[in-house]
Amino acid sequence: MAVDLRDPLRSVLGSILDEVRDRTDGEVASYIPELAKADPRALGIALASTHGVVHEAGDSAVEFTIQSVSKPFVFALALDALGLEEVTRHVGLEPSGEPFNAISLDEASGRPLNPMINAGAIVTSSLIPGDTADEKFARIRAGLQAFAGRELDVDEAVFASEAATGDRNRALAYLTRSAGTLASTAEIATTAYFRQCSLTVTARDLAIMAATLATGGVNPVTGERVVGEDAARWTTAVMTSCGMYDASGDWLVRVGLPAKSGVGGGIVALQPGQFGIGTFSPPLDARGNSVRGVAMLEALSSQSGLHLLRHR
Ligand code: GLN
Repeated sequence: MAVDLRDPLRSVLGSILDEVRDRTDGEVASYIPELAKADPRALGIALASTHGVVHEAGDSAVEFTIQSVSKPFVFALALDALGLEEVTRHVGLEPSGEPFNAISLDEASGRPLNPMINAGAIVTSSLIPGDTADEKFARIRAGLQAFAGRELDVDEAVFASEAATGDRNRALAYLTRSAGTLASTAEIATTAYFRQCSLTVTARDLAIMAATLATGGVNPVTGERVVGEDAARWTTAVMTSCGMYDASGDWLVRVGLPAKSGVGGGIVALQPGQFGIGTFSPPLDARGNSVRGVAMLEALSSQSGLHLLRHR
């Protein structure tokens, strides 16, 4: 790709795309049947600075469902509304070392281990203020829109598909309800959660959402304060330890950036005080992380020296 003199960073992002474009390993998610329709060739990346400048390459404007990439942002909204103490009475902060859909609860406290796995994310959605699924979801949607700086739609086909096949998530909701940690009925929590996962975003949106955490809670494009600094920092910390499920330890060594993946093919990553990144590529590895998304972030981190724990 030729160097774009007006936007050299765009050239860097373009060459990252070129590096991973030919990888064909991984499978598009199919356990939610509607997701199997995603185009495996779609490939995009965007980077938003904490000054609000956005650089993009490839399919950065293609919409896909946010899925689990929503989890840290809803966690930040819950922290902002209720505080750390109240939220952590319901969900823990420890890496689980288990798959995203694990039937996992801390025996003694009845809490899911962290808010990045499904059990913890469903509890987090239940904590969002509102008496009905509609009220909770309206609040979640407004919050994610503020993170993205634009209106977000629900992909009704993906929502219907997940609602029709989401019994494992319902089981997690009933389990946490019986343990006393779910803050609503199981039906309300899973409906809000399924709708949250079905919101559509682009890689550009994800970059701006991540950059909003990177500034400490202010959307750098719109200037709106979305969550407080504490909520942004706590959320970033949990992304660092738990964001890539049972690959989180490996990720911290190889890439070294707080991140979160989703089965729609999106990944967000950020460097606090610097930038947010969004990537999009639907084929997933065995842990449910985008193969080429991981490869792009690995390449970007090593080539540009972005590892959080670098010495200089
Ligand atoms: N909605 C999906 C689920 O709950 C999200 C999972 C994911 O993105 N890892 O199964």
